[in-house]
Amino acid sequence: MYMGRLITVLFFVMTFSLYAQVSKTEKRIVSAVDAHHSEALKLLEEVVNINSGSMNFEGVKKVGMIFKLKLDALGFTTKWVDGKSWGRSGHLIAEHKGKGKTLLLVGHLDTVFELASPFQQFEMVNDSTMKGPGVGDMKGGDVVIIQAMQALKDAGVLKDMNIIIVMTGDEELSGRPLNLARKDLIDAARVADIALGFEDGDGNPKTAVVARRSSSG
Ligand SMILES: [Zn+2]
Repeated sequence: MYMGRLITVLFFVMTFSLYAQVSKTEKRIVSAVDAHHSEALKLLEEVVNINSGSMNFEGVKKVGMIFKLKLDALGFTTKWVDGKSWGRSGHLIAEHKGKGKTLLLVGHLDTVFELASPFQQFEMVNDSTMKGPGVGDMKGGDVVIIQAMQALKDAGVLKDMNIIIVMTGDEELSGRPLNLARKDLIDAARVADIALGFEDGDGNPKTAVVARRSSSG
């Protein structure tokens, strides 16, 4: 989660212009990130210990409900979209209306570790490294989103921001038909000016991945 904090700070640096002198607002944001650090670790432990393999619909929803409550408390309008029509658990969608550009923040709730997997629990390897199913991919990223929104709120800048958060429940094993499974994410992308994904990138907190090649069948 040390990495998580760095990524959270990186997110703000990117949002509030790199290399500019650190403003009072940015200082408030950074201290808010620090103030909620152990709370974020606890949240990560809690969600990692809930199995949310893509086919464990109940577990995926349970993780979604935990993030939903956090976002409700931060003033987002949230909804759970049931995934019955595409054969998966569903998606969490949260919206915050403000002014200016619309940011889309993308996460996912599911992992590749189904109930049958022996890998189920959170564990600290040492004082700064944790291990657990979905810590990096990508419950850690989801927690960074929550922590970032908390810091913006604490710093008094969230109220003016236009933000949509979509955490899908079927990233690792997409539901079918795809046009239904991806409809909510695509709809959000259409109205967004900037989209940021919170999966781990290349492991270097100084960089952001801006494109990626892949193939699928
Ligand atoms: Zn992922």
